Amino acid sequence: MGFSSLGLHSSLVLAASQAGYQAPTPIQTQAIPSILAKKDIMAGAQTGTGKTAAFALPILHMLYAPISTTEANEKAVVRALVLTPTRELCQQVYNSFVKYGTNSAVNLAIAYGGVSLLPQIKMLEKGGDILVATPGRLLDLLSKNIIDLSSLEVLVFDEADRMLDMGFITDINRILKRVPASRQTLLFSATFDDAIFKLSQKLLKDPELIEVDERNTAATEVEQVVYNVDADRKRELVSYLVGSKNWKQVLIFTRTKHGADDLAKEMCKDGLKTVAIHGDKSQGAREKALLEFKEGKVRVLVATDVAARGLDIPELQYVINYELPYIAEDYIHRIGRTGRAGSSGLAISLLAAEENYLLEEVEAVLGDRLPQQWFAGFEPDLTKEPVSNKKNSKSAQKRRAKERAYGKSTANKRRRQ
Ligand code: AMP
Repeated sequence: MGFSSLGLHSSLVLAASQAGYQAPTPIQTQAIPSILAKKDIMAGAQTGTGKTAAFALPILHMLYAPISTTEANEKAVVRALVLTPTRELCQQVYNSFVKYGTNSAVNLAIAYGGVSLLPQIKMLEKGGDILVATPGRLLDLLSKNIIDLSSLEVLVFDEADRMLDMGFITDINRILKRVPASRQTLLFSATFDDAIFKLSQKLLKDPELIEVDERNTAATEVEQVVYNVDADRKRELVSYLVGSKNWKQVLIFTRTKHGADDLAKEMCKDGLKTVAIHGDKSQGAREKALLEFKEGKVRVLVATDVAARGLDIPELQYVINYELPYIAEDYIHRIGRTGRAGSSGLAISLLAAEENYLLEEVEAVLGDRLPQQWFAGFEPDLTKEPVSNKKNSKSAQKRRAKERAYGKSTANKRRRQ
């Protein structure tokens, strides 16, 4: 089935083909007709499934305006609003709208925090039929009376699970007070849990449930490998893997900003051009790093979970979990960076003995065991006493509580992206 059979305007079918898409992905095949039929939807789709086009194309269709007849609005009356948890995802979604909307005069606008308000206000002055925004910056604009949401027709929550993880629920509630009840609402989430269902009950009316993969499962095209290795040899192993196998574009995840900086520094010393991105880096620095990585000028990008959210790196083949995440669902987001839109990928996790409990949590989310193996030359030293590999030992419980608290405070600090 091609894009032309989905009922989309011919200019959008053309844009999809210009983007190189030969056929709609499963999420697009299911979501596009439902959205065009004005239904609310709740879609379980991971990054890399083509979920952005699944909502961007039908929204552009519904708001289509031929180039010659549209006039700039005096005030930014937003007709479709897409909320994203991070600036990077915000930019990625906005860029998709620009790409697909190239033959339409619909006004597009973007608003995210961490940068000056003025250019975003200027952009909105030209109109904002479709606005892609992070919640904090949207509330800033609402409080300054720059935008009007009273005629909103479509509201999209992209990566709703991450929005809740990042503590955006209060912001979401404030935004909901400003939008009409008659709107159409589309909710996209990589994972579903009780909090998401609770949110969906509040947001959606008689939604159509769309799932392109089983809930909380990893992309099937991604080969997942776990290497047991001592914590103090991880850096050496990671440099060896990238160097000896001559991998060109590798994304490595660490849990902390400090860890990301340290690893990047050490890998540079090993002769591998590496850059770290995390919440303490300026927006400009993050964008520059990502661009250099995409262009192949930087071989390895080390990122924290929040910083990596929303990164669109086409054809990324290798993801390495230098440390497993504290929040098991983040594992799915991490490995979703590879094997995108049908291509294959390899996700390697480096597991120190004291991280066993984190692997168990990941396996519980996946509903599957991940076989562990040793990498020749980097076998763990079994004579060493691990910090603790007993899940229920007192020290493990304490460490876990501390680590969880750390994760939460980090998330809260970053909620105003
Ligand atoms: P997303 O899941 O929206 O982040 O999209 C992941 C990647 O898939 C992006 O690089 C898109 O450009 C690409 N993509 C989206 N739709 C299709 C399609 N129908 N065929 C091939 N690639 C696609």
